[in-house]
Amino acid sequence: MQAAIITIGDELLIGQTLNTNAAWIGQELSNQGIRIYRSITIRDERKDILDVVDDYMNEADLIIVTGGLGPTKDDITKETLCDYFETTLELNDRVLNRIKKYFEARGKEMLPSNIQQAELPKGAIILDNNHGTASGMWFEKGGKVLVSIPGVPYEMKAIMNEEVLPRSKAKFGVTGNYHQTLMTQGVGESFLADQIKDWEDRIYGDDLFLAYLPSPGIVKLRLTSKNGATDAKKIENYFHELREKLPKYAYGMNGETIFEVVGGLLRKRGKTLGTIESCTGGGIANAFIQKSGSSDFFQGGLVTYSNELKVKLASVESETLDTYGAVSEETVKEMALGGMKNLNVDYSIAVSGIAGPDGGTEEKPVGTVWIAVGCPEGGVIAKKFLFGEHRGRNLEKTQLYAANMLRKVLLKVE
Ligand code: AMP
Ligand code: MG
Repeated sequence: MQAAIITIGDELLIGQTLNTNAAWIGQELSNQGIRIYRSITIRDERKDILDVVDDYMNEADLIIVTGGLGPTKDDITKETLCDYFETTLELNDRVLNRIKKYFEARGKEMLPSNIQQAELPKGAIILDNNHGTASGMWFEKGGKVLVSIPGVPYEMKAIMNEEVLPRSKAKFGVTGNYHQTLMTQGVGESFLADQIKDWEDRIYGDDLFLAYLPSPGIVKLRLTSKNGATDAKKIENYFHELREKLPKYAYGMNGETIFEVVGGLLRKRGKTLGTIESCTGGGIANAFIQKSGSSDFFQGGLVTYSNELKVKLASVESETLDTYGAVSEETVKEMALGGMKNLNVDYSIAVSGIAGPDGGTEEKPVGTVWIAVGCPEGGVIAKKFLFGEHRGRNLEKTQLYAANMLRKVLLKVE
């Protein structure tokens, strides 16, 4: 079977609203093992909708349509689909009641246009929307299915998850893909591919599929089986092998962040962490507190952006700054050790770098970052990184590489 996606809305075509629905639906369908044959974005125009729907109904078994179901005049999807499927609207009491309650609960007055949202096509299966006033509609014709759902992303996702995906799987007998994702940090996509070449060859020989999903500082490796969860153990074994082979980079599974992983290690050992940040301005501290329970290990941090505060708060020697500069091994090590002592923590992370785009020199170009990790009993290691030109990515990478450095210290990797 194959599916198609139609996203309707003038605002999508002119880039006023980013078409996140098409991406999300594409991902969910393919995760379920449903192949997507086409995806198109069109205007809120009757003729365009009719042409595309007619065309796609010939080619696809399942068509997902989003948008154009609002209560305003510009939204014409429902009426147009009624005409296409040669049916008429009728008032649906159950939906009308739900819309009434929706407005009551919010203490708002219901308008005639909202009542019209309870008028739905005869013969279509109505898909409840528990987050808004526009219902979803499931039409069938000649063994094919067309589903029309609202454009508001969180309403669309809820109806997809609660109604459309389960019904589609049942209707078309889809087994569903099974996949797991290994998270890596600190290794580029091509270097990684080179390192795991033999492993990758075996994957394909074993009826699995591998995808590289890179983002700044992180590469995710997703292994997929088309046979569903029966291959779970097989995938687990392959990833186990890879984690043993790449302990420097492979840090977690399925969207786990490196900060969660490091936090988990510290928590397990009953150790505390503090941060001393220059270029990241508190970003590392912020990354570590994203999960509740971070107070188990995270004590706090110093943002020592200026040299003055590096001296005052992190006890860096003025002489060190004068001799070696703020972005240097000597300074970042003193930040880590001084900060660790002042914050009274077991481990510390200190960073100092040139995020850019200005401020680079020949000796220390934009993207130069020193990261230090302070350890119990006064041990400290520091490492220099040369990232790139882009300020945002430099800051993001600094945070990730810093956390991974501490992870490797904790696990005695390298
Ligand atoms: P509609 O159902 O067309 O009235 O859309 C309602 C809201 O959802 C509007 O704010 C749209 O901008 C938004 N929206 C519609 N289609 C999409 C889409 N494909 N991706 C993201 N947002 C959308
Ligand atoms: Mg619209």
